Amino acid sequence: MAMARLKLLILGGTTEASALARALGPDPRFDLTLSLAGRTRNPVLPDVPCRIGGFGGIEGLAYYLAAEKIEALVDATHPFAAQISRHAVLAAAKVQVPLLGLRRLPWESEAGDHWIEVADMASAAAALGHEPRRVFLAVGRQELGPFRAEPQHEYVIRSVDAPAPDDLPRRARVLTARGPFADEDEARLFADLGIEILVTKNSGGAATRGKLTAARRLGIPVVMVRRPELPAVEAVPGVPGALLWLEDLLARAHGAVPAERGV
Ligand code: NAP
Repeated sequence: MAMARLKLLILGGTTEASALARALGPDPRFDLTLSLAGRTRNPVLPDVPCRIGGFGGIEGLAYYLAAEKIEALVDATHPFAAQISRHAVLAAAKVQVPLLGLRRLPWESEAGDHWIEVADMASAAAALGHEPRRVFLAVGRQELGPFRAEPQHEYVIRSVDAPAPDDLPRRARVLTARGPFADEDEARLFADLGIEILVTKNSGGAATRGKLTAARRLGIPVVMVRRPELPAVEAVPGVPGALLWLEDLLARAHGAVPAERGV
């Protein structure tokens, strides 16, 4: 008799979500779907079933979980995607689906760093000051509004997709690129561009940490936008913890014997 497969939904958009999906994709004990918001034009998708686009709020997500008979939900969304994380908690509670947060740790400042920590993007723009500066903006393409209101600066904006022209500050140069970025490449880029200050969200993770190492090396101050408040849920910082949580769930749900991993 074929063993029932655990129906799993991963809310993605991060390296960790894709890594988890890749790790579980070939595992016959899981029937998995990866969900993306659809924010990037050409996402790099793992070879697993994917769906793209919003669910229609808390009710929409709860309906999806029930209709698809989802048995486990992993919220591996970006640490700044607070709305979908809130929706995940409320929808999962409503239809009683076990939920795990996969939340990478925030970056911590080190000796030699000069961080100016701020609560949001408006405060980040204000922290640049009145004197004109050459600013490297690594904040994505959707929250440029506050920087348009500080037109005295010259901006270099790096994002996966180019921002809409109307969203750009007056003096802006756009670099489209997708991480990971190496420390040395970041340092060379900042030096070549004459960057005087960096603005970034505290996204955490290794793929885009190089800019912080480069800033430290070059003595460039960093305006660091703190993470938004996320709901308290059972959470792990990385893929290994998520795999353990799923093994445990599987053992309890189906009485299955945990498989040996890495063989
Ligand atoms: P959000 O504000 O938390 O979510 C807004 C809406 O997008 C949600 O209510 C949901 O729509 C939909 N959504 C978000 N993630 C989804 C997923 N994995 N699958 C299906 N629908 C999803 O998140 P955001 O607008 O994507 O981004 C907010 C912040 O996160 C920004 O600072 C952005 O730069 C950063 N960020 C996001 C991603 C990403 O992949 N989403 C990646 C990098 C950075 P419904 O209510 O209709 O369900």
